Amino acid sequence: MKLVDLLDYTGQLLQVERFRDYCPNGLQVEGRAEIKTIVSGVSASMALLEAAESLGADLVLVHHGYFWKSEDQRIVGIKRSRLKFLLERNINLVGYHLPLDAHVELGNNARLGAMLGFEIEGWFGEQSVAAYGRLLQPMSLAELGLGISSALGREPLIIGDMQKTIRRIAWCSGAAQDFLREAVDCGVDAFLSGEVSEHTVHLARESGVAFIAAGHHATERYGVQALGEHLAQRFGIRHQYIEIPNPV
Ligand SMILES: [Zn+2]
Repeated sequence: MKLVDLLDYTGQLLQVERFRDYCPNGLQVEGRAEIKTIVSGVSASMALLEAAESLGADLVLVHHGYFWKSEDQRIVGIKRSRLKFLLERNINLVGYHLPLDAHVELGNNARLGAMLGFEIEGWFGEQSVAAYGRLLQPMSLAELGLGISSALGREPLIIGDMQKTIRRIAWCSGAAQDFLREAVDCGVDAFLSGEVSEHTVHLARESGVAFIAAGHHATERYGVQALGEHLAQRFGIRHQYIEIPNPV
């Protein structure tokens, strides 16, 4: 299919226009105009680009692309190597950041909730990217931790009373630990994000809302896979997700 049609469709699907973001959403590096194979991954690292090339990717689809607001604008060092790799091979790089966290079906938080048995009741936080709701089955914090560990293949860091019963929970993938304050206002028993900061621990202890850091990478694997699968089915193109392990 044509790259322009794919970008048009995906931009509308994810309502890209709705978001103020820290990076461009959509096409970040332009390659060939015809797309038969999409390779997806969480972050556009060199390891992902190399794996994508070996699978014959026309387009690499990621959650973490390039050109972040705070970064050095020069094309030097690692940035040069990555861009050179893509441009020499005519491979497109397409990234969706906040729109892919927030999408109500394909987004990271929607997928994460479905995997962990959380029913969504509403959205909160800046630009409504974070979700809150209830566990399909109430359980102790310790049991919840075990379930998360087996679902994500990574042991979470948990701050809170392990015997406490968790009925209501809020969650936001990635580095959303500072949404804990707003999660407390949602009246939940626990808040789950990817990363943790030193001050998060004190806030969790003092608010009585348990905090779970389940991994930035581990919580953001699922949106990009769901989007890649959706595009493959919709347009009859190939899609493969590549897991580049990351302990953070
Ligand atoms: Zn992220």
